[in-house]
Amino acid sequence: AKSAGGNRFELADPEADARAITRHGLTTALPAALERGEFFIEYQPLVHLGDGSVRGAEALVRWLHPQHGVLGPDRFIPLAEHTGLIVPLGRWVLEQSVRQARDWCERYGDGAPLRINVNLSPCQLTHPGLVQDTVDILERAGVTPQALCLEVTESALIGADDDLLKPLRRLAEMGVDIALDDFGTGYSNLANLRRLPVSVLKLDRSFTQSMQQFPADPVDLKIVEGIVSLAHSLDLAVTVEGVETGAQAEQLRILGCDTAQGWYYARPGPPERLHQLALVDATG
Ligand code: C2E
Ligand code: CA
Ligand code: CA
Ligand code: CA
Repeated sequence: AKSAGGNRFELADPEADARAITRHGLTTALPAALERGEFFIEYQPLVHLGDGSVRGAEALVRWLHPQHGVLGPDRFIPLAEHTGLIVPLGRWVLEQSVRQARDWCERYGDGAPLRINVNLSPCQLTHPGLVQDTVDILERAGVTPQALCLEVTESALIGADDDLLKPLRRLAEMGVDIALDDFGTGYSNLANLRRLPVSVLKLDRSFTQSMQQFPADPVDLKIVEGIVSLAHSLDLAVTVEGVETGAQAEQLRILGCDTAQGWYYARPGPPERLHQLALVDATG
């Protein structure tokens, strides 16, 4: 509490109050926002580090709030998780993204299909409809499971028991890729990786950030090198996020990472931007 002058002490922090009011306001506004179509998705390209080609994109949800403007997911995903709205919201994101992937595939015809990465929150993992909803969405859009990658954070799977892993295993058996997001931030036992139905490791942005200095911290280099070689020995692909400079991209390529994502290539944007990037790429 801050002294407000004299012997009066203000116990409440007015900014914290405003934040709490906004949180409450946003939470109660969420269901109507979904009905009114106030959410939209931006796509950020995933680029192959070896040849620079666009391989797909990650779907990132935003809320165009009538009063507050565009809100990022960090502002409302935790609220949606808390109220359970994340289940229908997540289903909506998946449906939109899969349809978008179909649209990209149609445009490129015979080219390699662009893949779509969609984030799954832990609440969606425990929701019994996950597998069936995903199957239905893919079928309705006519998209093969191989075009979809579901991203689950490392922390959501730490200590996961078999019940939690079962739906992910079913999806993986169908051909859906499962990526372990924010890898390296949790404390998961690396040996534990074998037990998880994942095929992609998404190295957390903190590793990419440590590649900013030149020369990079030798310990960080060793850690990334170790993670990449372990991942590859387990047949996992490595994606790096938060690549902001060409130097980082080059360093991570040399370290053997497979795919990258970050502002250096493109910020998240409307789906048409991916068309342009992939077309530029396809024509040289
Ligand atoms: P994430 O899955 O780790 O997504 C990557 C975040 O890094 C995104 O933030 C992206 O805009 C940002 N980013 C990308 N490239 C760069 C870069 O070069 N530098 C920096 N500094 N940042 C970069 P965003 O869009 O704000 O999303 C934040 C988080 O919200 C995501 O983190 C994800 O956990 C969650 N999220 C987003 N969309 C969804 C969704 O549809 N469902 C669920 N459950 N969570 C979502
Ligand atoms: Ca992600
Ligand atoms: Ca991530
Ligand atoms: Ca993150």
